[in-house]
Amino acid sequence: MSKIAMTTPLVEMDGDEMTRILWKMIKDELLTPFIDLKTEYYDLGLKYRDETDDQVTVDAANAIMKYKVGVKCATITPNPARVTEYGLKKMWKSPNGTLRAMLDGTVFRCPIVVKGIEPCVRNWKKPITIARHAYGDVYKNTEIRVPGKGKAKLVFEAEDGTVTEKTIFDFESAGIIQGIYNIDPSIESFARSCFQYALDLKQDLWFATKDTISKTYDRDFKEIFERVYADEFKEKFEKAGITYFYTLIDDAVARIMKCEGGIVWACKNYDGDVFSDMLSSAFGSLAMMTSVLVSPKGYYEYEAAHGTVQKHYYKYLKGEETSTNSVATIFAWTGALRKRGELDNLPELSAFADKLEKATLDTIESGTMTGDLTRITTLPNPKKVNSLEFIQAIRANLEKML
Ligand code: NAP
Ligand code: MG
Repeated sequence: MSKIAMTTPLVEMDGDEMTRILWKMIKDELLTPFIDLKTEYYDLGLKYRDETDDQVTVDAANAIMKYKVGVKCATITPNPARVTEYGLKKMWKSPNGTLRAMLDGTVFRCPIVVKGIEPCVRNWKKPITIARHAYGDVYKNTEIRVPGKGKAKLVFEAEDGTVTEKTIFDFESAGIIQGIYNIDPSIESFARSCFQYALDLKQDLWFATKDTISKTYDRDFKEIFERVYADEFKEKFEKAGITYFYTLIDDAVARIMKCEGGIVWACKNYDGDVFSDMLSSAFGSLAMMTSVLVSPKGYYEYEAAHGTVQKHYYKYLKGEETSTNSVATIFAWTGALRKRGELDNLPELSAFADKLEKATLDTIESGTMTGDLTRITTLPNPKKVNSLEFIQAIRANLEKML
């Protein structure tokens, strides 16, 4: 059988720990035997980020702007413990934060639904897609540790020299301050991509902020969404028979638990970070969720929504068996390959992505799965396999299909 050809490379971003191990297994077992895989490789593993003073992350983002499609393995975001563990020069910023700041856009995350893994919220009948704004807010904050008594101010100097100044707080004791920002063009493109995504899926769009408390910052988000909706999407939504629904974030959280799913939920950056983990674990497992960053300029970056699965990696290093779920990482690859196929007009490549996804889901539905799923499945007598066996079982199903 001849291998499927590619014309434009994918931007491949390798990562850390257990997901780095899975990355190689997926390439060796599920991709390179079938595709003449073309990638431009960037090693975002922490060691190489440190060696290059994190330049490799910036280079990868630039490559995505050049080639339009990237696929990323989970990476360590260093904290003080990691600085010691890896002897880092510096506590480097989150690579996802760097990529998102450079590419802008919205992260869409959707649970991967299979028979035998039921959501623990009984009334969720259909998947819920989270659309997470991926720019600014707390991820680009500036913080000060206040040593003691003093005045904190918020100051803006306009280009023409006009100064706007407000007192934040008169400190009588030690404390903390945080400054965050966002920009209207990014919020606008966030709104636009959410409305467009909901329209593509023919699903209602929900959006929520805390504008009752944050009367300028969050209200800006609310008003921009209203304006983009009225100017560009209202008629299209009505024609498609779907609705745009705005509410307060606490109300949205309460209603999400009672809805039957099948909606797109637009979230500010932090809300999306937190609630996508809640949704994915309630739908089954962190490893059963797709994640794609869609930038307004037409760049796509596919990744898994979970981390590097550190605990499993330490077991792996000790030579113990691991049963780590590779589904989200496989779906990052299939998402990227399918998009590459669409952009380069290579239907065979897109069809391969569909088949690999089907082979993956068939494997689980036939009862072969990793430990995170055997613990929760409703299928009788599931077979727990190790990380490599799971990928090999998918390969066997895939070979039958090709
Ligand atoms: P994590 O890697 O998501 O894992 C947390 C726990 O969730 C695991 O211990 C495991 O539970 C379960 N889990 C997650 N993914 C799984 C999978 N594929 N298969 C089976 N079980 C899975 O989070 P973490 O351990 O808190 O973070 C580790 C590192 O990941 C951190 O350095 C963090 O900075 C980084 N991180 C990266 C990204 C990213 O690159 N997108 C996102 C989040 C975190 P059990 O131990 O119970 O089996
Ligand atoms: Mg998170």
